[in-house]
Amino acid sequence: MQEVDWTNLPGRLIVLSGPSGSGKSTLVQRLLERPGLRLEVSISATTRPPRAGERSGRDYIFLSAPEFENIREQLLESAEVHGHSYGTPAEPVRKALEQGTCVILVIDVQGGIQVREKVPSALLIFVRAPGLDVLEQRLRTRGTDDEASIQRRLANARRELELAKCYDVHLVNDDLERSVDELAAILVQNYCGDRIDHD
Ligand code: ADP
Ligand code: 5GP
Repeated sequence: MQEVDWTNLPGRLIVLSGPSGSGKSTLVQRLLERPGLRLEVSISATTRPPRAGERSGRDYIFLSAPEFENIREQLLESAEVHGHSYGTPAEPVRKALEQGTCVILVIDVQGGIQVREKVPSALLIFVRAPGLDVLEQRLRTRGTDDEASIQRRLANARRELELAKCYDVHLVNDDLERSVDELAAILVQNYCGDRIDHD
């Protein structure tokens, strides 16, 4: 694939990372309901099997391992997370940024670091729960993972927290309403609002 030129695009690229269970999906869902923000969420490709209720093309693009390998060159970043491949298709992201829309990538820290290298203007936001005990409780309450998966996610969380220092903004997702407000304000400050003049 021809190298994508990520410079001089009017939209801002936002990376949202944080341990599984820290609240990234909840926060993004709430942000999308806010008027005044011009946001699109990138849909990742993955080899992870769909969970109950998940749909290909809406939640993820669910692929077999060979299918994932076939599109690897078209990805802005990719990583192995919890035993599966995940990656961000580059072209939809570039198109949205070209149209002045901000794009949020909800991806892991390994992916965030790759984005930092390719797109230096990207804003990297790291979300964490108030503590590992709260994180564990949230994973259990969510009820989507079995015990082995919860343990894997907690071990991974410790690694992600160590790499979080490369991120520009750190958000502790304690009270949900306050966290959504804080995140929305950060996005407006970073030119993701409809009413912001880009010049
Ligand atoms: P992630 O996308 O980071 O894996 P989720 O958005 O799925 O995390 O959140 C994990 C669980 O924690 C969900 O059950 C969600 O409803 C809950 N949750 C998210 N944010 C908060 C918060 N601020 N306070 C309490 N529970 C939360
Ligand atoms: P889940 O399988 O629970 O939806 O996601 C597991 C982890 O994979 C989360 O930390 C999520 O942020 C990460 N992830 C999802 N999509 C991508 C992606 O496209 N690239 C990378 N690097 N990580 C991703």
